Amino acid sequence: QAKQQNQKICFFDPEAERLVQQYFETQLALEKALSSQAFELHYQIQCNEKGQTTGAEALLRWRDPVKGLIPPDQFIPIAERSRLILPIGHWVLQEACRQLSLWQKHPTSEAWQLAINVSAVQFQQDDFVNQVAHCLAETGARSQRLKLELTEAVMIADQEKIIAKMTQLQAMGLSISLDDFGTGFSSLSYLRHLPLNQVKIDRSFVQNLQADSSDAAIVKSVVTLGQAFNLDVIAEGVETSEQVALLRTMGCNHFQGYYFGRPVTADKLVTQTT
Ligand code: C2E
Ligand code: CA
Ligand code: CA
Ligand code: CA
Repeated sequence: QAKQQNQKICFFDPEAERLVQQYFETQLALEKALSSQAFELHYQIQCNEKGQTTGAEALLRWRDPVKGLIPPDQFIPIAERSRLILPIGHWVLQEACRQLSLWQKHPTSEAWQLAINVSAVQFQQDDFVNQVAHCLAETGARSQRLKLELTEAVMIADQEKIIAKMTQLQAMGLSISLDDFGTGFSSLSYLRHLPLNQVKIDRSFVQNLQADSSDAAIVKSVVTLGQAFNLDVIAEGVETSEQVALLRTMGCNHFQGYYFGRPVTADKLVTQTT
């Protein structure tokens, strides 16, 4: 009995209890969202130095009848911990390929690339490459139009396996972008050792570009390294014309951010493009 009492004293923490409860509630709600098709992809344009649209990034949203549109930061971490990210990520892949097959039919969007975010757990699945091949075949989307955005988190797993998988996907025609570069425990050597097509400069560096000279120095060196390794360099979170101008002088030639367009539904995207 003493032990029981002890346990109560040690483990009763209302905040922890609330978090655990919230975790299970969200997990349950996510399962329901999957079966009731409550997920949506929104698209944010990506453009080149001339301001021409080269494609878009697909960003996941969850439409809840009561809470409205829920942003991914509020459920992706829970989906990752509960492994629900696997069926959710698969849905994203399917939906993206379906969208690509539609874009391919129109002259304006024919050459667009669509980037999707792939969570590390999802990428680490043994049959991930097969899933991609299957989705492409099923929808008729061209592999050259699909880009996978991975973060450094994928490198936690067996690096050789991950690199082999990336190489295999590239051989199929896909592009690979290293997302959020510079956050995490980035290693510059990733740029050299990973088979990449693109490196994406994180929003946090772009935000302080004018005010913070060390952020500017980081951006400049990532652009220079990217160029040295023959990678496309894209800056995310670009909000002002001053940022565009600065990034341009640094040699960055691809942009994404509110300045060019916010994430919108596929039908609204067409009106934003040049
Ligand atoms: P991310 O991949 O770094 O995506 C960029 C985020 O920055 C998006 O937030 C986008 O809406 C936002 N953003 C774009 N331009 C600007 C700008 O100019 N200013 C500011 N302040 N923000 C901008 P979002 O859509 O809320 O997504 C958050 C994160 O959720 C993403 O970050 C990504 O890590 C994750 N995510 C989104 N969709 C998926 C998905 O389908 N699968 C997985 N695994 N993760 C996803
Ligand atoms: Ca991304
Ligand atoms: Ca990013
Ligand atoms: Ca980011």
